[in-house]
Amino acid sequence: MQRFDGKVVLVTGGTRGIGRACAELFIREGAKVAVCGRGVETSERAAREIGDGCTGFGCDIADSAAVDVLFKQVEADLGAVQILVNNAGITHDGLLMRMKDDHISAVLDTNLKSAFYTCRAAARGMLKHRYGRIINISSVIGLRGQAGQSNYAAAKAGLIGFSKSYAAEVASRNITVNVVAPGYITTDMTAGFSENVMEKLKERIPMGRPGTPLEIADAVAFLASDAASYITGAVLSVDGGLGM
Ligand code: NDP
Repeated sequence: MQRFDGKVVLVTGGTRGIGRACAELFIREGAKVAVCGRGVETSERAAREIGDGCTGFGCDIADSAAVDVLFKQVEADLGAVQILVNNAGITHDGLLMRMKDDHISAVLDTNLKSAFYTCRAAARGMLKHRYGRIINISSVIGLRGQAGQSNYAAAKAGLIGFSKSYAAEVASRNITVNVVAPGYITTDMTAGFSENVMEKLKERIPMGRPGTPLEIADAVAFLASDAASYITGAVLSVDGGLGM
């Protein structure tokens, strides 16, 4: 008997990085997993690489109608989503005075509004079955802010307010909604940082190193597991002490 035997899991942005580590962990522990990135081919390829039990779907999660189609496809292929990991995210950094409108919209749409669409689409199945686990991936930046990331910080802070509010709406139906707030994690998103920036970051992290995608996936899996059945509306920082 494994922790997630037979559970249907959807990980948005499961093609790479943190989302992929989550998908791999859920597969290892018995779940049926759907991953989605923007492209059909890349998502299907990632699912094949992740292994048996994983299915890839193309979906731009910033598009409300596309999210509804995604949930219909996942339900038809795997069953109603029981565990939802809202992980897909992007950055378009820059100082506010030079920030373009489409960089404000894209970051808010992809990192924040997408959670409204996915949680709403998942609601019917979760309410019907009186079971659901939702884990939203925020960031230490959503808790502390960061110069040059006002769009990203606003989206990630908004995700926390959204999660606490939705947690209160569905708590009586055995649906939990929690947030994981990673610090700096080694993925494509941080791959562009220069060595100099990375050294300065390490100096600020009490544990002295960036985290791994698996360290975030372990926290996500805990919040999705029966061991966390009485935890809802919580924010779990997984950041090597950066947010202290
Ligand atoms: P990556 O850049 O490595 O991966 C991002 C994932 O999101 C990809 O799978 C990408 O898929 C998917 N994605 C992006 N836009 C969309 C979209 N519109 N529709 C569907 N999928 C999309 O990011 P990380 O793994 O580093 O980050 C994952 C999450 O963790 C993000 O929400 C990020 O903000 C957060 N986070 C990351 C930190 C870090 O240090 N790495 C720190 C704190 C939080 P594809 O390209 O195939 O479309």
